[in-house]
Amino acid sequence: MDKKPNQHFETQAIRTQMERSSYSEHSSALHLTSSFVFEDAEEMRASFAEEKQRAIYSRFSNPNTSEFVQKVVQMEDAEDGVAFASGMGAVFATFSTFLNAGDHILSARAVFGSTHALFTKFFPKWNIETTYFSATEAIDHLENLIQPNTRCIYVESPTNPGVEILDLEALGKLAKKHNLLFIVDNCFATPYLQQPIHYGADLVIHSATKLMDGQGRVLGGITVGKKELIRALYLFARNTGASLSPFNAWVLSKSLETLAIRVDRHCDSALEIAKKLEKHPRINGVKYPFLNSHPQHQLALKQMKKGGNIISFEVKGGLEAGRKFIDATQLCSLSANLGDSRSIITHPSSTTHSKLSQEEQSEVGITPGMIRLSVGLEHHEDIWNDLKEALDA
Ligand SMILES: *Cc1c(COP(=O)(O)O)cnc(C)c1O
Repeated sequence: MDKKPNQHFETQAIRTQMERSSYSEHSSALHLTSSFVFEDAEEMRASFAEEKQRAIYSRFSNPNTSEFVQKVVQMEDAEDGVAFASGMGAVFATFSTFLNAGDHILSARAVFGSTHALFTKFFPKWNIETTYFSATEAIDHLENLIQPNTRCIYVESPTNPGVEILDLEALGKLAKKHNLLFIVDNCFATPYLQQPIHYGADLVIHSATKLMDGQGRVLGGITVGKKELIRALYLFARNTGASLSPFNAWVLSKSLETLAIRVDRHCDSALEIAKKLEKHPRINGVKYPFLNSHPQHQLALKQMKKGGNIISFEVKGGLEAGRKFIDATQLCSLSANLGDSRSIITHPSSTTHSKLSQEEQSEVGITPGMIRLSVGLEHHEDIWNDLKEALDA
């Protein structure tokens, strides 16, 4: 793999490339193959013994998967990584590798819905308990939540859908002090906006399905971090099978070439729209990290390059008004994805977070009338006109 340490983010994303095949293709070849062939019995033995670094079987590794991993490793300033079939594949494998039965997780309360399901419905089978803390909880209070069996601190920032910001530096220091693994799901920010490893994260997880693909086509996931941790994760992954398909890796690697330019536009449009929403008389409040009015605006400025593409806002009139509003939009899609080139609008209270009680919803910053907007790459004036017409209707 060709890599030059002093190049910029965009250049590395474009110029990191697997070896060319004998056809001298310019864009990376797609190695859609389940296995690879050996010259002789000795080469096969040496490959299985890991004396020779080469692809054996696509559940273990594949040139397309390796190219995708290498790009994300560089973007996150990590040492190594493992790719997965989906973001949840990455989340589950990461916890399964590093936690033992009876361990304890200290997690921010606002985590992705399926991650919450792992913590509350599946991990208890192995006697693994989770304690939640709120995004704004003071660090000295968090310290009281650490138990002798606590193994890791887990957070997402910005959170979904409340776009709250977690203090990565403070959490990184706390984790280090208590010898805990600090694991960050960096999906909403992308490594272009925020690199948790610089704040002490040991492992960084992504759903590549979101802004990394950015065009709503394939599922994928990845975990990156320190070499020795990734080695353990790799052994778990290659034996348990949630491997990223070579085709999806090929799509995702190509997508990363445009990550910086896309995320810049997503964020610039989101800020424009957030400012306009804030002034609209039918809106009760707007949450966007790069608005002055965001309660953690200073923290967002410190750890993020731009504000991301997710805005949450409250339509006056609560639940029914919120649902009517999204029905009245024409351009925005009603869809479960986010970070797509197409703007997507959802009503978390009745969909993605409907399994939480009213009280739990409010604890993660969800109100009945809250709308989550994933700002796409359409022209920001067209997105705004759609929202404005729906609000005025
Ligand atoms: C979507 C998402 C996931 C899960 O990713 P999949 O690719 O859908 O499995 C995990 N974390 C966050 C923050 C997400 O948005």
